Amino acid sequence: MTELNLVSSNINLSPYKTEMASTQAVRAHNLSSTLNLIRDRGSITRAEIIQITKLSAPTISSLVNILIESGFVREGGIGLSSGGRKPVVLEFNYDVRKILGIDMGSTHITIILMNLKGEVSQRFSYHMDVLTRPEDVLKEINTAVKDILQKAGLTGRDLLGVGYTVPAPLINDKTGEFITYYMPAWKDVHCITAIQEMIDVPIYFENDANASAIAEKWWGCALGYDNLVYIKLGTGVGSGIMINGEIYKGFDGTAGEIGHTTIEADGRKCRCGNHGCLESYIGIQGILSDARHALKDDPNWKDHLADLDVKGVVRAAREGNQDCEKIIATAGWYLGIGLANIINLVNPGLLILGGDLADAGLTLLEPARKSLVERTVGFNTRTDNLVIGEMGSNVVAIGAATLVILNSFQESNIYSTLRNKE
Ligand SMILES: [Zn+2]
Repeated sequence: MTELNLVSSNINLSPYKTEMASTQAVRAHNLSSTLNLIRDRGSITRAEIIQITKLSAPTISSLVNILIESGFVREGGIGLSSGGRKPVVLEFNYDVRKILGIDMGSTHITIILMNLKGEVSQRFSYHMDVLTRPEDVLKEINTAVKDILQKAGLTGRDLLGVGYTVPAPLINDKTGEFITYYMPAWKDVHCITAIQEMIDVPIYFENDANASAIAEKWWGCALGYDNLVYIKLGTGVGSGIMINGEIYKGFDGTAGEIGHTTIEADGRKCRCGNHGCLESYIGIQGILSDARHALKDDPNWKDHLADLDVKGVVRAAREGNQDCEKIIATAGWYLGIGLANIINLVNPGLLILGGDLADAGLTLLEPARKSLVERTVGFNTRTDNLVIGEMGSNVVAIGAATLVILNSFQESNIYSTLRNKE
């Protein structure tokens, strides 16, 4: 048996491998565990790390020296003493590197610069037709990335990585391929290669609804929840399903396409080609077509219908326009049917709504709760777990950036993460 096999047979005994064999793999595991412990706690003493990890004092001393040298950990103040000399507190340095989160939606690009604590220091957001203009979009992203780095006085070396999301299910999160059914212009576009040519750092790729679920779980309303569903109400209606703390992707990566579940057997035509999909009632196209129809004779609106967007419909409802209120309430009622299906199937602890339509608040939530109650089985019926997300319009970009954190501190990436940036 090799040294490594001997050690891996101990994995189940303790999450922290003992120093029976000082192979690179064991060291990577211990470095990653120790760094994640310091990051989770924010600050901690060496003695506490020894107590939690059960590793020896010399091993922890050596691991901590590497972490301090990398800049990710620094010695801070003096901790409480349990007798004797007061210990030095180790702190995680949340600003040692920054992360770029790129949210490429159907009609916008939002890019943020974030530190390792989820704090956004720069933001760029631009409305454009993303679906049909891949070259222009990538040019726009390139310019914005350069601009953001320049304004922050950073170079690529200061970045831990880039998180990048697309408004479609992924085919392969390593190669950046995604399903281009609704955006055929992107069929042969190599997104990750294009981003890598702009900036040579690790790039992580995800679908927008999954990234939103991650963002709310890490920094928003889903802290402490391991089973949740994030429903993104945008051009399409998608969801990010988190089960036991992990995004559930399904066999082909297309899990969560809640927008194309049927809620009316002979209902409206959907852009997917089927009839009666949830998206055809509560997606942007459905809402706007209802609103344009309802407002076509309204003297305040009839000349502005071409420019109408969901934000406009929500605003009009808030200002008391009864047609718009009714449209949102009907959408809420259909949404509740979709949510009831999710609840009966997945039993999530939290259902989070995001996207422009979610800004309608109670006008959307109340009818959704009503139809949800009607359609869930008694033991599953709860409405206190249906909430509007807390992260606002940066949610997808923050989720994209958070992917970098999730991946960088795993043991498989720990050496490249800790590399001296010079
Ligand atoms: Zn559909």
